[in-house]
Amino acid sequence: MTRSISIFGATGSIGESTFDLIQRAGGPGAYRTVAVTGAANIARLAEMARALRAEVAVTADPARLGALREALAGSGIEAAAGPEAIAEAADRPADWTMSAIVGAAGLVPGLRALRHGRTLALANKESLVTAGPLLLATAKAHGATILPVDSEHSAVFQALTGEETAAVERVIITASGGPFRDWPLERLAKATVAEAKAHPNWSMGSRISIDSASMFNKALELIETREYFGFAPDMIEAVVHPQSIVHALVGFRDGAIMAHLGPADMRHAIGFALNWPDRKSLPVARLDLAQIANLSFQAPDIERFPALRLAREVMRTRGLAGAAFNAAKEIALDQFMAGRLGFLDMAGLVEATLARLSSETGLGNAATGLEDVLNIDHLARIRATELAEAIRQNR
Ligand code: NAD
Ligand code: MG
Repeated sequence: MTRSISIFGATGSIGESTFDLIQRAGGPGAYRTVAVTGAANIARLAEMARALRAEVAVTADPARLGALREALAGSGIEAAAGPEAIAEAADRPADWTMSAIVGAAGLVPGLRALRHGRTLALANKESLVTAGPLLLATAKAHGATILPVDSEHSAVFQALTGEETAAVERVIITASGGPFRDWPLERLAKATVAEAKAHPNWSMGSRISIDSASMFNKALELIETREYFGFAPDMIEAVVHPQSIVHALVGFRDGAIMAHLGPADMRHAIGFALNWPDRKSLPVARLDLAQIANLSFQAPDIERFPALRLAREVMRTRGLAGAAFNAAKEIALDQFMAGRLGFLDMAGLVEATLARLSSETGLGNAATGLEDVLNIDHLARIRATELAEAIRQNR
């Protein structure tokens, strides 16, 4: 029987790579597409919906519903708009769902898709950071499978295949170090949005690219590792590896380390999740190790990249700390992108927001149902916006 799929965040970087793999596999001849979603890029969303012959296309932006309807005219594809319509699209069963919306907005559609008891390919790391236990419990309750699509987590998953988790001693995820790997603090303070977006190895959406420059992306990924695999925080490390060839390593109690290597192309992790538990041929470059010649590693610098220190705090606190951390980080990023905060102010703002919320609500001991998570996400955005104003005035 033809497998059905849905792509949430189809028009983004991960969504485009997913679309590419589906098209190469034969498009609508190979997979039946239920839903595709996007936000501002209506032309591309409609084009993808037509190419895949989707049942429904949804934009996050209600103001663009008319434009979407027009772009889909005559195709027989339903058009819908708004966050609730995106969640409703996830209520339509699909065998395989790609969760590739950026930010906390990806949480609810992912949770709704899990209720069908099928497979969720999870690129949206923010869901695990904000509501890891809830996501895993929902998957378990409905017999659904969550497959990690972040390259590091796909690598850990692959290195763990056939191994006993009790034999694992440590998990090491790699970080390229981003465009500012060797920049001194004084220069980091003045870093611009354009400089932060220019990732040396990976081509990604602009938000995750800037998060890579600040290492907030690696911070999210440390928490993601803790939540998805359940290893204790002190078993999880990050190491800087400028070539981005080794994506993660798993160390076992006999001292052996299994490393996962591959080109910096997300179609590997996406294709792995699409074909799992099989391995099929994928259109990614093959590594020429002699040509690469050197793989180097260095310890991350917590002074210049305080996001990594904050991640440790969140991993220890758990509860609602991840949701508060992620929301504050999203506001900090918005403010940096709008030119309202400096590059280093982002970590300062996230730290101040966590401190404020922890004294206001006691993040670690709180209940972590969906309402609790959404409430703290909302409150953290309000506090972070207020604190950002204070940072600006104290300049
Ligand atoms: P992107 O910015 O390129 O695309 C984001 C997608 O989400 C687009 O389709 C956009 O229309 C949609 N979107 C944006 N805001 C939305 C909202 N409020 N509601 C609904 N939809 C919205 O992002 P990306 O780089 O593809 O990343 C997507 C997710 O995958 C992120 O969680 C990111 O951390 C994760 N991820 C990305 C990469 C990568 O290489 N790009 C690697 C690992 C993990
Ligand atoms: Mg990653």
